[in-house]
Amino acid sequence: MSVYIPVDLQRRVRSHFAERCAYCQTAESLTVAIFEIEHITPRSAQGETVFENLCLACPTCNRFKSNRQTAVDPLDQETVPLFHPQQQRWQDHFVWNEAATEIVGLTPVGRATVAALKMNRLQLVRVRRMWVKMDEHPPKTV
Ligand SMILES: [Zn+2]
Repeated sequence: MSVYIPVDLQRRVRSHFAERCAYCQTAESLTVAIFEIEHITPRSAQGETVFENLCLACPTCNRFKSNRQTAVDPLDQETVPLFHPQQQRWQDHFVWNEAATEIVGLTPVGRATVAALKMNRLQLVRVRRMWVKMDEHPPKTV
């Protein structure tokens, strides 16, 4: 279900996340997709439409995240909160592998989020390989 998000607020969120997916870090400019403003705490769980609860997400991460707030850490099967792009720093929970084609979770939150949002889906890994060759990836700043 979509909700009206004022244009100014959308612009602020897009700018805060540098026009990249707050989860998989894909740059919107490298894709043909239109990225979406995502409620981190879902509206179904009373998440509000305020800056602190919004992030920019690619359609695929948004789809896999859906209304989830937790996921399972594949290392020890513990259920942990998903990464919160407004309250946590990406680089504290994730790192690129050496080839910059896969995201490695550094923490339970990172590992669970990589798994739940399928942040290393095959097609994305292939396209990241191409972006590396184009010198467009990984993002210079996070
Ligand atoms: Zn994404």
